[in-house]
Amino acid sequence: MKPPSQTNAIDFDSAKLQRLGFGQQPPILERPVSLAQLRQQLNLQLQTSLEPQRILGLFYREIQRLVPLDALIYQHKSSDLRLEFGQRGHHSISYSLSHEGEHLGELIFRRNQRFSEQEQANLESLLAALLYPMRNTLLYRAATQSALRDPLTDTGNRIAMDQTLQREIELARRHMQPLSLLMLDIDHFKRVNDTHGHSAGDDVLKAVAASIKNQLRNVDMVFRYGGEEFLILLSNTSREAAALVGERLRCAAQAEDYPADGHTVELTVSLGCSTLLPGESAESLLRRADSALYVAKREGRNRLTMAG
Ligand code: GH3
Ligand code: MG
Ligand code: MG
Repeated sequence: MKPPSQTNAIDFDSAKLQRLGFGQQPPILERPVSLAQLRQQLNLQLQTSLEPQRILGLFYREIQRLVPLDALIYQHKSSDLRLEFGQRGHHSISYSLSHEGEHLGELIFRRNQRFSEQEQANLESLLAALLYPMRNTLLYRAATQSALRDPLTDTGNRIAMDQTLQREIELARRHMQPLSLLMLDIDHFKRVNDTHGHSAGDDVLKAVAASIKNQLRNVDMVFRYGGEEFLILLSNTSREAAALVGERLRCAAQAEDYPADGHTVELTVSLGCSTLLPGESAESLLRRADSALYVAKREGRNRLTMAG
């Protein structure tokens, strides 16, 4: 049987949330905190962070002083954000949050026991405390994310690459998993610009990035490293597996016809591959992939070279 659920829309601009007022005081012995106190406290606490995980974690913990829950789920599709706290419960109430027409995500409260009318009213009132903190965290997230992307190819930029590489090296060490890196450079790309113009070159660059992302399971690990050079991080991937991925990328690039200014362009790519050594730094891992790429170029291009 499908668990009973309700969906509600909460628009923070409307006065709906105010309808509860503070007239009905809950019995003090049963409730360790009043709605008014809790709202005031949440207003102070939730503005102390810009991290969605922390804001919603605090919210989930604190509102349970008034309304016990089994789970809280938050999702905001356009920022690719989904957070879950607690275990799933049979009953759910969901709220779509918005402010001045701007969608701020969806919240689902879950519990094994039914929600009473009073509890539902309390939840709605407490949701108001999430308004500005969630709006700020989403704005902040959008700003930081755009600062980490390359606008032409919609891949990560150098800053993102540095951060991700550091993080992936730490994770690989902690979990004792292999980590490999592919450096990919388009062969004779200057000719594309010279023949078809810079704007057509831009289109080809975009298409190359799209085709790289198409070939990979984790799109977040592709970075534009230089003008026509991309870096691909392969987590939990051994040297042998990375060689297969590299070959796949090379063959795909060679097989594709790239549209450029009413023509189609054929091109090839060269790749260098390195796999993290024990105790190796990010700089050294990058340097080894770069040297391998240099060898691939020197030996005739359209090939993958493994770092020694
Ligand atoms: P190689 O096979 O040795 O890599 O030759 P190449 O021509 O690809 O390499 P080179 O480093 O000589 O030239 C890279 C070219 O890439 C030169 C530059 O005009 C072009 N390029 C770099 N960034 C961009 C960009 O954002 N848009 C366009 N259209 N071209 C770019
Ligand atoms: Mg090149
Ligand atoms: Mg280059």
